[in-house]
Amino acid sequence: MSRIAYVDGVYRPHRDAAVHIEDRGYQFADGVYEVIAVRGGKLIDEELHLVRLRRSLAELRIDGALADAPLKVVLREVIRRNGVVNGIVYLQITRGIAPRDHAFPKAARPVLTVTARRARPTNPKVAEEGIDVITIPDIRWQRCDIKTIALVGNVLGKQQAREAGAYEAWMVDGKGHVTEGTSTNAWIVIGDNLVVTRPAENAILNGVTRQALIAIIRREGYEFTERAFTVAEAKTAREAFLTSTTSDVTPVVAIDGHPVANGVPGLLSQKLRADYLAHVAE
Ligand code: PLP
Repeated sequence: MSRIAYVDGVYRPHRDAAVHIEDRGYQFADGVYEVIAVRGGKLIDEELHLVRLRRSLAELRIDGALADAPLKVVLREVIRRNGVVNGIVYLQITRGIAPRDHAFPKAARPVLTVTARRARPTNPKVAEEGIDVITIPDIRWQRCDIKTIALVGNVLGKQQAREAGAYEAWMVDGKGHVTEGTSTNAWIVIGDNLVVTRPAENAILNGVTRQALIAIIRREGYEFTERAFTVAEAKTAREAFLTSTTSDVTPVVAIDGHPVANGVPGLLSQKLRADYLAHVAE
């Protein structure tokens, strides 16, 4: 089955799908995106993704994007046309096409593109063995809460992780606190099984997986607090893990080559992973 993409109102063969060279997404990264997991043909936590999308659009003052109801139709149609049962659907909305000028154009209208692809759920071996992270300075801007397509800081960080043989890089702010991973949220478990993650302010993206897991943690009655934690605290934590749409809940077993506890996935991390996967399967 050949892949199909949706570009500004038209379904096209993926290989021919293109945006205009004066699309502001291409020239200024002036746009937002979402990645939604598709499992068993269903969009996981679609409403949370759409709420975050609307917030990102509002923060960038991009008006006139396709409303939720027709957008949902497009997402499903792209998923259907690509035969995706398990995978992801990617959507991007830019401010539109206009002669290059930093200020908002008067006449542009938002451009929506949607792609979908098949992907296996995360390799269970990765979660069974846990993954390594490195820590790097967070060089990004001050509105990481907006899910913009301006990801070059994240790109450089992920590449640094790859070159270090690690799965992810945890970025660290000027005060020595972990902000988040380059495409994941960061968590630790300390003391008597207290789960800690950074509050969702401007320094991090409020992950949908993060939000779903917090709801699970509260429902199950685990000890939980939202506060910033240092790299030193993470290295001496009982457990660590990360979350994202494509990584679910994945245990972290080493930070900068330093084993977390005894260097194997923590029991609570594994339990939270199972609880999250049960939520996805619901
Ligand atoms: N933080 C960053 C910087 C991200 O790019 C992502 C996902 O792409 C996340 C966190 C996790 O968000 P979600 O759980 O919505 O996938």
